[in-house]
Amino acid sequence: MSSNISVLPSSEDQSNQYQNDIFQLAEYHGLDALHFKSDPKTGLRAIIAIHSTTLGPALGGTRSRIYESTQQAIADVVCLARGMSYKAAFAGLPYGGGKAVLLQPETISDRDAYFQSYGKFIDSLGGQFITAVDVGTSVKDMDLISTQSAHVLSTSAGHGDPSFYTALGVFRGICAAVKVKFNRDNITGIRVSIQGVGKVGFHLASLLHEQGAKLRLSDIDPIALEHCTTKFDAIPVSENEILSLESDIFSPCALGGVLDESAVSKVNTQVICGAANNQLADDGFGDALHHRNIFYVPDYVANSGGLMHVILGDNDELHRRIANIYTAVIDIFERSETADEPAHRIANAIAEEILYG
Ligand code: NAD
Repeated sequence: MSSNISVLPSSEDQSNQYQNDIFQLAEYHGLDALHFKSDPKTGLRAIIAIHSTTLGPALGGTRSRIYESTQQAIADVVCLARGMSYKAAFAGLPYGGGKAVLLQPETISDRDAYFQSYGKFIDSLGGQFITAVDVGTSVKDMDLISTQSAHVLSTSAGHGDPSFYTALGVFRGICAAVKVKFNRDNITGIRVSIQGVGKVGFHLASLLHEQGAKLRLSDIDPIALEHCTTKFDAIPVSENEILSLESDIFSPCALGGVLDESAVSKVNTQVICGAANNQLADDGFGDALHHRNIFYVPDYVANSGGLMHVILGDNDELHRRIANIYTAVIDIFERSETADEPAHRIANAIAEEILYG
């Protein structure tokens, strides 16, 4: 195993370091393969990264967004694919890690044709890669892909949108963190700051509100923010203030890379537990949080409820596994305290043992 295996840096960090050498980037992350598809007729520009198929076919969502450059999209997909391998391994699921990004054009003139073309691309990989929804894609898009390929989950005929189950897992993670950090069995009055109240953040706010948490919410979308603050009796906070506002829990539920040097120095909380993938802009920032005595619940542990739902659907087995996120978070905390090792390194070591032996 190479010494850099335990480092899970953010896409941004990697795009700077390796932007001129895709092979170096791929090797650094232990990536299996990177596939590209361009279809000028529909405007499709897609990249699929397969990090690992050791435990099973590579499973990962399809993210669609406007990227500043192709290099930025490559760095994003590579880091996200690796995170998926760790997530599946840690959760004990028989899947590898992969991810897809669509470099969203300014306008998609024919969304059906666009996603059907993408579906053909997925199908051409012969089942090595299986996809599901992610930021910027919907269950409807998965339905369009399913007209061309069987290798798609979270369709309307299948298990649907996983966001509620992702939120439920994050909620269990928060409850566990409250237990170990505050010795509390309930979250009444606990101050939670949520960054991003989209699909997951909304459900998380609902679950926390029901249990009496005090919510502070931020979102760059003023309509989503107003809807959520009104519904859950929460305080709206500006994008710039959410980190420095004193809270018991900070929950990143927007995009990755949020925990960078500036954020780590100003975040004013005891616990970080949220849904966003690749929250740490670099693993060193996880170390810095540990030194500040802030418990960072590793993102792929907290947000694994969505992946579980994509695979299992809503049944007893799913709820048993999501409930186990509570126990996993307590175990990571205890090991971290005993060894005086940052929580993300404890979780990475467990996942790497499963992946690489
Ligand atoms: P979403 O696009 O529905 O919601 C994201 C929200 O964050 C949007 O409302 C957006 O306006 C807001 N946002 C963006 N930048 C922001 C900023 N700087 N400050 C505050 N708000 C900001 O996405 P989602 O499905 O809710 O996913 C949220 C995160 O969780 C993503 O990182 C995603 O990869 C991760 N995740 C989601 C799932 C799932 O089941 N949906 C599963 C695992 C991980």
